[in-house]
Amino acid sequence: MTDGPVAAVRVRFCPSPTGNPHVGLARAALFNWAFARNLGGTFVFRIEDTDEARNTEESYRTLLEVMRWLGLDWDEGPEVGGEYGPYRQSQRYDIYAGVASRLLDAKRAYHCYCSPTELAERNEQARKEGRTPGYDGHCRQLTDEQVAAYQGEGREPVLRFRMPDSTITFDDLVRGEISFDSAHVPDYVLVRANGHPLYTLVNPVDDALMRITHVLRGEDLLSSTPRQIALYDALAEIGVGTGEVPAFGHLPTVTGQGNKKLSKRDPESNLLSYRDNGFLPEGLLNYLALLGWAIAEDRDIFTMDEMVQKFSIDRVNPNAARFDLKKCEAVNAAHVRALPIDELAARVVPYLQAAGLLEARVTDEQRATLIAAAPLIHERMTTLGDAVHMLGFLFVPEADFVIDPDDSAKLLDADGIAVVRAAYGALSELQAWDTSSIEVALRARLIDELALKPRHAFGPVRVAVTGHRISPPLFESLELLGRGRSLARLRLGSG
Ligand code: GLU
Ligand code: ZN
Repeated sequence: MTDGPVAAVRVRFCPSPTGNPHVGLARAALFNWAFARNLGGTFVFRIEDTDEARNTEESYRTLLEVMRWLGLDWDEGPEVGGEYGPYRQSQRYDIYAGVASRLLDAKRAYHCYCSPTELAERNEQARKEGRTPGYDGHCRQLTDEQVAAYQGEGREPVLRFRMPDSTITFDDLVRGEISFDSAHVPDYVLVRANGHPLYTLVNPVDDALMRITHVLRGEDLLSSTPRQIALYDALAEIGVGTGEVPAFGHLPTVTGQGNKKLSKRDPESNLLSYRDNGFLPEGLLNYLALLGWAIAEDRDIFTMDEMVQKFSIDRVNPNAARFDLKKCEAVNAAHVRALPIDELAARVVPYLQAAGLLEARVTDEQRATLIAAAPLIHERMTTLGDAVHMLGFLFVPEADFVIDPDDSAKLLDADGIAVVRAAYGALSELQAWDTSSIEVALRARLIDELALKPRHAFGPVRVAVTGHRISPPLFESLELLGRGRSLARLRLGSG
């Protein structure tokens, strides 16, 4: 198809470390990663931490933690290094200062001395006269005298990019051909009056210097693309980068409730909460992949290996994608069900530890209990965190065992207590302590002798021994809990 060698694919994920990393960011990271892995390219992770007022070190740490948790490994970037580092923009200010002064020398940018008040006044005037507000090019051609006069007033200039007058057209990888009339794109600020470079400068400069070939990012950045393409051209002229403009693909907006763009502040946005609630990274990634992409028409569940094999950017859907937590949970549950039992047992351990149900050192006996208990809850789990609620009764120290007060109020009334007492009687006489002996004994006493309906018979027993109305199957639970603890809890529940 192409003559000459095709430049190796290089993509970047370049979040700003402000606030908690959110779902939209992870989706952008995933699509870039899958694109790179599919084509044998390079996935660059860059930290856009030039907004000193809003960046935090904590947010930076959390970003790395989330990326590692998700398994989106990067080939170049923080803690990994690479040929084009450093990968934190806060460590590259010298580079930006150099590029800025070369743009100025080449007249692709100019000093603008307009004060914020003057700009606001002229915008207001434009509005009154029915013209589009926006920078009017006032300082494009200042004479030496004018410059001297402004300097005499002690004004500090910003650096503005001189937009060309041409039309800028590019072939968006997701949306097809897009044109912007540059006449409607005002000259924009690259460097503040205090010398601080802005996103408008540093992001394209680093894309050029880091040899980025494809920019895949959210649709919200579409309007900055013509400005960046124009800047690329200027960068090429002054010898920054290869001169190749990267291809752009704008991923669909992720919407939340009420079809509004999902914001950082929406609770379902917060990535760390997925980890803390026990989502599997592969489950969450699978769901995020569905926000704009599909592996096949009738297929929702797939592994990341499959995604990497099949990913292609031209199959990304430009329409906004709605984030549906229920669906996300269902996709995760499918991945939980696909885990082999021993792996499931191993992966719930940190959650049981975080809940204080297991110590840092897990005993062989606890491990055996987990492996025996995991099949009982496997099919019913949505997240790994569900194990805390469902299996907590097996691991909680006896002194800390409590019965859910709601469930107790509903099921351990006078009748319920009588049932528990009868169950205690039946089980305390039992010789063998296994599921089927337990079942036989309880049925004989509660159903046959006392003529109780199963619901009335087993509900109170369940609450007394597991602490909850909902638990894994009762007879198996009793076997796993063991004779001593089961009888002790039944006696306690007998009032
Ligand atoms: N740091 C920018 C952001 O967080 C990256 C934008 C881009 O991909 O160009 O939105
Ligand atoms: Zn000006």
